[in-house]
Amino acid sequence: MSLRACRSCKILTEGDSCPICRGKDLSEDYTGLLIVLDPESELAKKLGVDRRGRYALKVR
Ligand SMILES: [Zn+2]
Repeated sequence: MSLRACRSCKILTEGDSCPICRGKDLSEDYTGLLIVLDPESELAKKLGVDRRGRYALKVR
């Protein structure tokens, strides 16, 4: 199953809806992959990410 990215949260998911906002506005058209292991890190804060997961860098 392919990963899709939420257009608002940018998190990648294999499911039908976003695990964060529960939205179904998912896109298969994204670039970049960011794995956040530490939501407290500077990078995570900069990206507005507050939970672990795989994120797209850019979602179209
Ligand atoms: Zn979302």
